[in-house]
Amino acid sequence: MAPSRCIRVHERDNVAIVVDPEGARSGAEFSGGLTAREHIPQSHKIAISTIERGSPVLRYGQIIGRANRAIPAGSWVREEMLDLPAAPALEQLALATNVPAPLPPLEGRTFQGFRNADGSVGTKNILGITTTVQCVAPTVDYAVRRLKTEVLPRYPNVDDIVAITHTYGCGIAIEAPGAAIPIRTLKHISLHPNVAGQPLVVSLGCEKLQPQRLFANALPVLEDSNLIRLQDQRGFAETVAALMRAAERQLEFLNRRERRMCPASELVVGLQCGGSDAFSGVTCNPAVGYAADLLVRAGATVLFSEVTEVRDAVHLLTPRAVNERVALDLIREMRWYDDYLAKGQADRSANPTPGNKRGGLANVVEKALGSIAKAGSTALMAVAGHGERVTAKGLVFAATPASDFICGTQQLASMNLHIFTTGEGSPYGLALVPVVKVSSRTALAEKWPDLIDIDAGRVATGDCTLEEAGREIFEFVLDVASGRKKTWADHWGLHNALAPFNPGPVT
Ligand code: CA
Repeated sequence: MAPSRCIRVHERDNVAIVVDPEGARSGAEFSGGLTAREHIPQSHKIAISTIERGSPVLRYGQIIGRANRAIPAGSWVREEMLDLPAAPALEQLALATNVPAPLPPLEGRTFQGFRNADGSVGTKNILGITTTVQCVAPTVDYAVRRLKTEVLPRYPNVDDIVAITHTYGCGIAIEAPGAAIPIRTLKHISLHPNVAGQPLVVSLGCEKLQPQRLFANALPVLEDSNLIRLQDQRGFAETVAALMRAAERQLEFLNRRERRMCPASELVVGLQCGGSDAFSGVTCNPAVGYAADLLVRAGATVLFSEVTEVRDAVHLLTPRAVNERVALDLIREMRWYDDYLAKGQADRSANPTPGNKRGGLANVVEKALGSIAKAGSTALMAVAGHGERVTAKGLVFAATPASDFICGTQQLASMNLHIFTTGEGSPYGLALVPVVKVSSRTALAEKWPDLIDIDAGRVATGDCTLEEAGREIFEFVLDVASGRKKTWADHWGLHNALAPFNPGPVT
């Protein structure tokens, strides 16, 4: 009988991840003489050597917890056997002490994008109808349904019409410090490169988030012909007719746009994980990390995010910051979030989900160490606050919560393409940008062949290398950004609602 298989990431590790889809049965033998003492499910941890009580449990060469009992070799190492270590102290981190040397540039890589007047580049050609308040969302949705069936077919170069709706805009303490975050997020999403930076704007009239406040220093977008105030209109039917007339003018403009060759450096790719398992950190996340390095080498911007999944690995990132300023910016974002969680009487241990744990992740430390593999190996060039638009090139930390739909919404302030890794599976997608989904396990890709775009589980089974999976992701990104290939989320029209992060009070 062939030996059971497990993956050890780092030579210091005293646990490994069981690979076989049916898990390791009790008595199963691994190469090297290790024997399972009990049934261990796939993607869960086996002790490679005996771990004494109080000793560190090591994965990725890092401490993911301390054993609160003796764990004999061959045991299933479960969540309750580990005590969560303290998060790295923010006062004692090494700043820019180990800055990676630049990798050789990748010249000549291009994609077919839509060049905008402001220099940004779109990966889709969308009519965006933005809103200042949730009150107007059903009216806009009604008009968009009619526009898509009655009008859009006459404009074949336009990919879609998207209502940029959300739950923000009124009933909020708009002068509170926290309000700046959702407001700038919505501003940057409204001016997204994929809507040519020129949305229609629908306001109710009496809301707190007045159009002038939303667009602040980007007021030219508020020409009279682009702005409709519902309280200035007569009746529903006439309101919808006015909206459709304005939309048609914009469609005529958008329909004249064409894809042109653009350097890959115009890509702003947002990375995030959702429904992670213990494989995520050895398959899909490092494969995406390899693709991230290729994108950085091609001059592009790569965003990684999710503060609570970076917090416990921050000591591995501050040395990679390109200078002390950037390292301190990263620490600033970690501290802001520590304070935010403390106000809610929570801490980062609130992060892992039941699905993460079912997938073999013991705690947030193990999750974070796997999560940051997405960030590849290049220097950290800049840090952006929640909802800020990123202008730097290279690897950038853009602060967001880890919640999938909130992180995706926040990254939309900057990104024109999204890569989403998943172990447990999520049909997640966004209307404004293509979302490329990468699975951590082949079993998920086989169960969801019409939802998962790329199967990185082949890395665990030895069917491809991390580098091969990373190159495949990179090439797929260029194809999708060019409109040559479609993600499954776009094929089915799976588009999650926008959920701007609002840390401020609701009145
Ligand atoms: Ca997430």
